[in-house]
Amino acid sequence: MKKAQVIGGGFTGTLAAYFLVKRGYQVRLIDNQPQLGGLIRTLPHPFGDIETAANGFMSNRLIENVAAEIGAELVPASSLAKKNRWLWVEGHAQRWPLTVFETLGFGLRVLWRLLTQSMAPRKLESLEHWGLRTLGGPATRKILSTAMLGIYASPISELSANLVVGRFFKKASKPKKPRARLKGTVAPKRGMGEWFEKMHAYLLGHGVQILQEQAPVLHSAPETTVICTSAPEASRLLQTLAPEVSKRLAEIELLPIVTVNGFRKTPFNPHAGFGCLFHPKAGFHSLGVLWCSDIFPHRFQTGMSSENWILGGKIHPQVATQSDDEILDQLEIDRGRVSLTEKLQEVRITRWPQAFPFYDLRLERLLEKLPALPPGIVLCGNYLGSLGLSQIALRVERTIEELPT
Ligand SMILES: Cc1cc2nc3c(=O)[nH]c(=O)nc-3n(C[C@H](O)[C@H](O)[C@H](O)COP(=O)(O)OP(=O)(O)OC[C@H]3O[C@@H](n4cnc5c(N)ncnc54)[C@H](O)[C@@H]3O)c2cc1C
Repeated sequence: MKKAQVIGGGFTGTLAAYFLVKRGYQVRLIDNQPQLGGLIRTLPHPFGDIETAANGFMSNRLIENVAAEIGAELVPASSLAKKNRWLWVEGHAQRWPLTVFETLGFGLRVLWRLLTQSMAPRKLESLEHWGLRTLGGPATRKILSTAMLGIYASPISELSANLVVGRFFKKASKPKKPRARLKGTVAPKRGMGEWFEKMHAYLLGHGVQILQEQAPVLHSAPETTVICTSAPEASRLLQTLAPEVSKRLAEIELLPIVTVNGFRKTPFNPHAGFGCLFHPKAGFHSLGVLWCSDIFPHRFQTGMSSENWILGGKIHPQVATQSDDEILDQLEIDRGRVSLTEKLQEVRITRWPQAFPFYDLRLERLLEKLPALPPGIVLCGNYLGSLGLSQIALRVERTIEELPT
């Protein structure tokens, strides 16, 4: 039986172990934390669950199949959340911030780009340039810049169009996977923590050895080694065995993110739904907010509303070093602007000085020229072109499929 070790037991590493098992490998999974899940953690609270990072997946058939196999029941986001996604543009929250005239211009422009097959991003094109070229000024300035700041925590002028939207225009080399049964955002019934509980049990049940320890710098790779850590840590692990790759990985910039979770008793919220993302020039301290109890109401005590505010990123990196009081003072100003006056209760602040990679043109250039790895070493991680969990899952599956049996 072929042997493999996986370093890192977050979403990426546990999935890598899962796919290796399915390919018949004997697997050892090494993670330095007491619990699998990495950035993702569900903290139970009497008022409802607190998710520290991702609170759901974009549904795809692969996620659905893995969930079914490990025994995690996926639940879709509520219809209220599906219907109402707010963008704060030009002084107020809107679901579609383009005027009728702008919408018509946007539609015609996209149609033209599709017909002339010029929609795909060019090499080293910024997302802003791509947007202006293909979607037009109003859609780029109002929708793209607001949505991407919320998702990638970065201004579109610096994001790489190829890394962010390139995958939508790649010709599939394999037949398309069947469509997902559930649409939009989904999560295990008891939250993201349930995914890892079930995955942990599945891996143990399939003979995976799970070690809680810090993997040392690699000096050799006698067996297949799949590195599923952040880029800086992958760089450290490879410093001796693949110094050139290690040097390039060390150049990847990671963005600081702070999240603030809390509850309120007043149900009044004029912008109920999935959440609201703020335009970079709207003057908010936060990048956006998720109304967690509107998205998955079954996970909260009746009458309790839960908020998850996201701060930091490329345009407000200082937040990660501010005190709790400073962060909360700024947050109350933002909450006041969206008409929430009741103070948050049971507040929990989570800081990640290095949360996720900056998907900029430098990363695009770096990934294009990443030197080859020594035989037996494989990289998986959210710095390789897929930040969201569903896309990470597809990439990990592909990577493991390419290994020799
Ligand atoms: C606030 C926030 C909100 C997010 N929201 C969403 C969302 O809603 N939807 C979505 O799709 N994505 C979301 N993401 C992104 C997503 O959560 C991450 O991309 C994903 O969780 C990364 O998983 P990972 O396993 O690659 O890395 P990590 O979670 O960082 O896991 C790496 C693991 O490796 C371990 N490790 C590191 N070095 C070593 C070593 N030497 N030896 C042993 N173990 C080691 C670490 O301790 C960790 O457990 C969000 C991210 C953040 C920060």
